[in-house]
Amino acid sequence: MTPTVRQPRLDPRAPLVLDTRELGRRPGTMREVRRTVPAPTDLGNGVIGVPQEGSLELDLRLESVMDGVLVSGTVSTVAEGECVRCLDPVREDVVVDVQELFLHEPPEEGDEAELPLLDGDLLDLEPTVRDALVPALPFQPVCEPDCPGLCSRCGARLKDDPDHGHEELDPRWSALAGLTDTLGGTDAQADTAAAAPADPDRPQEEKS
Ligand SMILES: [Zn+2]
Ligand SMILES: [Zn+2]
Repeated sequence: MTPTVRQPRLDPRAPLVLDTRELGRRPGTMREVRRTVPAPTDLGNGVIGVPQEGSLELDLRLESVMDGVLVSGTVSTVAEGECVRCLDPVREDVVVDVQELFLHEPPEEGDEAELPLLDGDLLDLEPTVRDALVPALPFQPVCEPDCPGLCSRCGARLKDDPDHGHEELDPRWSALAGLTDTLGGTDAQADTAAAAPADPDRPQEEKS
């Protein structure tokens, strides 16, 4: 934002536009703002963010200072996303500190050139909230710190099945495994024996 360009006229009804009229430009006056407002759209980083129907809790202090209005306090919300390991939904409480000086007039030059401006009595806190909140969100949200994720072979949720694993199936081993099955279960043997006489292609062993 260049200091010589005025912000477009702000909409006083926008959720994050605050009215400072009560401060009356008298340095030292202070007002507290505690309210819950609808969250602006796209407040997130792609993997986690404040949902469309989400809200922000503002707990702010507006203070009239020599050159403008100092806004400080906290913004709290709940971000929603997906665990990057197991894709379970993730909800995360987020509380960030905000502090921003809004100037009455664009400065001639100097360090304050980057500061946002008041639009009459109004100020737009949305860029400040965005700058504070988005970097505070996790880039790799997880449902719990030690989430084991999904099995890379079959996609099973390892959280539900900690002993989950797959035998390494070399063809030779699978033949052996089949043999072990045949010798192992008595039920399986009984079934095989019972089924054999019913097979018409099988030679009748009893008559030999
Ligand atoms: Zn997870
Ligand atoms: Zn698996």
